[in-house]
Amino acid sequence: MKVSCSKKTKFIFITGGVLSSLGKGLSAASIGTLLESRGLSVTFQKLDPYINVDPGTMNPFQHGEVYVTDDGAETDLDMGHYERFTNAVMGRNNNYTSGRIYYTVIMKERRGEYLGGTVQVIPHITDAIKEAILQLDGCADVAFIEIGGTVGDIEGLPFIEAIRQLRIDLGKDYSLFIHLTLVPYIRTSGEVKTKPTQHSVKELLASGIQPDILMCRTEVPLSDELKQKIALFCNVEAKNVISTMDVDSIYELPLSLRQEGVDDRILEKLGIWTGAPNITPWKNLVKTIKNPKGEVRVAITGKYVELTESYKSLHEALVHGGIANNIKVNLLYISADDLQNGEGMDQLEDCHGILVPGGFGSRGMEGKIQAAAYAREHRIPFFGICLGMQLAVVEFARNVAGITGAHSTEFDPDAADPVIYLMTEWFDSRTGKTETRDHTTELGGTMRLGAYPCVLKEGTLAAAAYGQGAISERHRHRYEFNNSYRERLQQAGLVISGASPDDNLVEIIELADHPWFLGCQFHPEFRSKPMNPHPLFRDFIRATMKLRS
Ligand code: GLN
Repeated sequence: MKVSCSKKTKFIFITGGVLSSLGKGLSAASIGTLLESRGLSVTFQKLDPYINVDPGTMNPFQHGEVYVTDDGAETDLDMGHYERFTNAVMGRNNNYTSGRIYYTVIMKERRGEYLGGTVQVIPHITDAIKEAILQLDGCADVAFIEIGGTVGDIEGLPFIEAIRQLRIDLGKDYSLFIHLTLVPYIRTSGEVKTKPTQHSVKELLASGIQPDILMCRTEVPLSDELKQKIALFCNVEAKNVISTMDVDSIYELPLSLRQEGVDDRILEKLGIWTGAPNITPWKNLVKTIKNPKGEVRVAITGKYVELTESYKSLHEALVHGGIANNIKVNLLYISADDLQNGEGMDQLEDCHGILVPGGFGSRGMEGKIQAAAYAREHRIPFFGICLGMQLAVVEFARNVAGITGAHSTEFDPDAADPVIYLMTEWFDSRTGKTETRDHTTELGGTMRLGAYPCVLKEGTLAAAAYGQGAISERHRHRYEFNNSYRERLQQAGLVISGASPDDNLVEIIELADHPWFLGCQFHPEFRSKPMNPHPLFRDFIRATMKLRS
C-alpha cells in the first residue's frame, strides 16, 4: 500500500532497544508536552506486539494497569502517561495490538475480501498496521507512534517493517525515527558503556531503519566525547544524541529533556518553526513536588500490592492530590489478603487515610471490607473506588443497617441480600439503548466501560469537591448498587451523592456522620493530571492532613 498524507501531521516513530521498561511512553509524553508548550498539537499511538486483542483481559501482574479511555477502550497504561502529560485525548484508535491487527486481517480474509489471494505478513499485515497509524493523519500537528517491546523481538518485526515503509511513503519532512536505548554505568570501573547502544542500532539498521535521534537512558550525563563516540558508531550526528537522565519524579522529565534540547532537534529535523517553549508550569510543578509543607501516609489495601504498576494511575492521582495541597503523600500498600488473615491491621493505625481501590475476584475481599469498617469506625478519611465503593456498601449494610446477609453477587451469587448485583436491565445513556446482562453473558462484553454522566446532590462532599452539579467519569465494572436497598441504607445514614441522570445507577456514596468517607463506582484516577489534580483526590488528601498530629 503506497500512501500519501494530508501534509498536516508529522509522524515521530519511537522504538526501544537493549531492554524494555526504559520509559518510551514517558519520553514520548514528555516530548509531547514540550511541543504543546511551543503551540503545536500532538497525538499518540501505542502499537503493542502481543497477540491479545486488547489489554482488557490481561493480568495486571504481568502487564500493569488497564487504562480506560472516555470512549470505553481498555488500553495500555502508556495512554495514561500521554493523557496526564498533554491535552491529547486517547481512545480506541490510539492503541493497537498485533492481535487486533491480525484479527482484522483474518476477518477480512473470511469475508473473502482478498478475492482468494494469498494473505501474508507483508503486505497484508503491514498494510493493516499502516492503515491503523495513518488514521491519526490530520488529527494533530505531530503524532507520536510508539512501538512496544524491544528492537529485535520476533513479534515486533511487522511493526518495524510498516514504519520503515512509512518513512519512504511520507518522506523525511513528515517522519522521524527516535530510538531509545540504555547506556549503562558500570559502578566498579566508573565507566559508561556504549556497546549495547551500538548493537541495538545495528539491529535497527538491519531492519532498514536509520534512527534520526538517539535518546540514551543514563544515570550520569553523557559527556560530549561520549556523544561523539555514539554518533560515530551509530551514524547519527552528535547533536542528535540525547542523554535521558534518571529523574526523582517523572514530572521532571520534560524539564530534563528540554535542557538537552530534544524538542529543538525534532523541530529542526521536521522543518517546523515555532516560538520558544514555555516550561514555567512544569518548573513550578517540580518546585511544589520538591518542597512539600509536610507528609501524610495513605494505606492502599489491594490485591496487586506486589506490583505498583497495577495501580499506576491511582498512584499518580494520589501524588496529584498531594501537589494540590502542597504535601507529600507516602503510600503504604497493604495486602488485603493479610488483613483478611488478621495481619497488618496495626499498619492501618499509622495511616491518615485509607483507600480501597478497584479490583476483580474474591481474593482479599473480606480484608478490604475490614479496612472500610476500620475507616468508618475510627473516623479515618476513606476513599473507595469501584470495588472499593461496592465493598464499603456491603460493610455499611452489614454492620450499620443491620442487613446481615449483605454481599455482592460477584462473590456470593446466592447472597440473601444482594446489595451489589448484576443489574439485568439498564439504560445506557452513552449508546441510548437499554442494555441487558446476566451471569451467562460472555466475559468482557458485559462491562460498563468508559465515560458516563453523573448528577451530584447538593450539600455533599462530592458536590463540594467538584463545585458543579453534573460531571462525567470513566467506568470499568459489571456490578452495580441494588436500588431495592436504597431506602433502607439511606435511612441508616448512607448518602447517595451521585447518580446517573435517570437516577437508576448509584455512582457515589458517602457517610453523613464521618469527616470524609466517599465511595465512587467510577475510576476518577483516569481523569487526574499533575497540572489539574482530580477534585476527589485533592479533597481526600486534604481530609487526611487534618489527622496529622
Ligand atoms: N469487580 C467489580 C465489578 O465488576 C469492580 C470492578 C472494578 O473495581 N473495576 O463490578
